[in-house]
Amino acid sequence: MRLIVQKFGGTSVANAQRIMAAARRAIRAKQEGNQVIVVVSARGDTTDELIELAKEISEQPPAREMDMLLSTGEQISIALMAMAIQTLGERAISFTGAQVGIVTDSTHTKARIKSISTARMRQALAEGQIVIVAGFQGIDENWNITTLGRGGSDTTAVALAAVMKHDPAQECNGDVGCEIYTDVDGVYTTDPRIVPEARKMDFISYDEMLELASVGAGVMHSRSIEFGKKFDVPIHVRSSFSDAEGTWIVPEAEWMRDVVVCGAALGRDEARISLNGVPDQPGISHRVFAAMADHHIVVDMIAQNVGEGGKAAIGFTVLGDELPAALSVLRPLAAELGASIEFDEQVSKVSIVGTGMRTHSGVAERMFAALAAENVNMKMITTADIKISVLVSRKEGVKALRAVHQAFGLGQPRPGAGQPGGKGSHQFQRRPAGAISPKSNRDLAALTQQLTSMEDIVVSDVLLDTDQGRITIFGLPDKPGCCSRVFQAVASAGIIVDMIVQNLSLGRTELSFSVPQADLDRALQVTREVVGTLDPATRVAADAGIARLFVHGVGMRTHTGVARRMFGALAERGINISMINTSEVRISVVVDRAHGEEALACLQEAFNLT
Ligand code: ADP
Ligand code: ASP
Ligand code: MG
Repeated sequence: MRLIVQKFGGTSVANAQRIMAAARRAIRAKQEGNQVIVVVSARGDTTDELIELAKEISEQPPAREMDMLLSTGEQISIALMAMAIQTLGERAISFTGAQVGIVTDSTHTKARIKSISTARMRQALAEGQIVIVAGFQGIDENWNITTLGRGGSDTTAVALAAVMKHDPAQECNGDVGCEIYTDVDGVYTTDPRIVPEARKMDFISYDEMLELASVGAGVMHSRSIEFGKKFDVPIHVRSSFSDAEGTWIVPEAEWMRDVVVCGAALGRDEARISLNGVPDQPGISHRVFAAMADHHIVVDMIAQNVGEGGKAAIGFTVLGDELPAALSVLRPLAAELGASIEFDEQVSKVSIVGTGMRTHSGVAERMFAALAAENVNMKMITTADIKISVLVSRKEGVKALRAVHQAFGLGQPRPGAGQPGGKGSHQFQRRPAGAISPKSNRDLAALTQQLTSMEDIVVSDVLLDTDQGRITIFGLPDKPGCCSRVFQAVASAGIIVDMIVQNLSLGRTELSFSVPQADLDRALQVTREVVGTLDPATRVAADAGIARLFVHGVGMRTHTGVARRMFGALAERGINISMINTSEVRISVVVDRAHGEEALACLQEAFNLT
């Protein structure tokens, strides 16, 4: 017997009529012969209203009591949903997170799931009940109520699907579906509320969705996709107002590799922090990022300047509302290191994501050219294997997103995003043709078995690459179009650029990028020529002696502990890190070539991969 987990978001249960509609959907699934678990969010804007209410009482409400308050929104919804289903003549029972044993850690307001007990749900399902579970909440080991972070009901739904799928005692025998019902009919190439030309996708890979969600595509909670990928649960995102086929979030398929950019997203409220004049020594990044990780602050874009004169600058972004916390962590540290702190809270981040970036060149150049054409200045750039992010001033965010969406033709039909805002093309099956199974299911099972807790990080491998060299431009004018000119020139010379990091400091920017070792001299020459025309004072250097290390996994960036462990292991061996890139599926660092092998061995050891 198949088991279906249906999750209804805030708008889908906003009033009695919608709750009844959701109830009918659940009943239909049950009557079609499935077991049904329904996960619900708080109605409409309830969570926002509760937050406002708390702020009327206290400027900084204690996190534990905040969770106690916020969890009530979902508790109202489950009771109403159970009543609705019973009124329509089916059997249903509601449970809070605690009642079904969703055990989390104790990080209030952004707790992580450790385990879920299936017994109570299994029993109710066996009795023929529709099981209703409150999204977004859990309980820690000391019986404190916790919440999973805004948008966390998606994570509850996929996590429930994951445990039921892998529960040997469960009647469904691994046949589990997960449907996310929301107020859009699927995942679009970008937020359709901001860019009306956005197109609905029929399929998107876990990795693409993970990156898109983590850079601002609020349609899914990024941690829910981690569960989907780790536990092999395909997710169907669809409209609660129609029966139209939505978007399937699935394992990567061959054809996806031809789609260079599948989507774009805007992270509106970002803040950029720059630590200037830190000693360029091993262990410094570790101290900075460990301090942030200790306070559970997720660091996003990281651009560490190539050190000069014994000093380096570390630039990074955090979510706007985490800026005060980040600054209070950094102030004493900066004082100790003799560094100064600069920050900008009026910035937004525009990102593009696509599996095809792994194999297609010139993507960054196209993005930068589109921004230059709109006269948008780039304040920071970072690239990862399937993502490029650019920081811009907040007032230019929407313009920048539109320009990028247009430049990659995301409003045009293509495989996987056929009809404009309409029905899926149905040309692919639920598991799309050519699906590449996730490192084979056996590997997946082996990986997940090693977990001591459901939301543990999975690191699958560490790789060393010594085939690249690096070009660094010091003191490039901070004006729209400069970076774009550099990459145009390098691309016209037929040189493929890989990792790009640009960090802004004091009105000029430092730009580094890696190119194949064999093209390094030519890249140096071309870059010198082009920057000479921009500003003769700009200096360019080439470095043939670098090694890049890549750590692959799932949810790498949001698990603050990963970077901490990685930088810590390198610091312990006295290995200096000169470039860092983070994404949800990969963290990469650049170190001295001479330390490459040693760094590889120490990272393999740090992640138990030996
Ligand atoms: P729910 O309450 O159902 O969880 P959310 O508000 O969390 O709904 O998510 C749905 C919203 O996400 C949409 O209304 C849309 O504005 C926004 N959104 C952002 N990015 C995207 C995207 N790429 N595709 C679809 N919707 C998006
Ligand atoms: N009600 C919570 C929120 O508004 C969780 C969710 O809707 O997913 O963030
Ligand atoms: Mg949501």
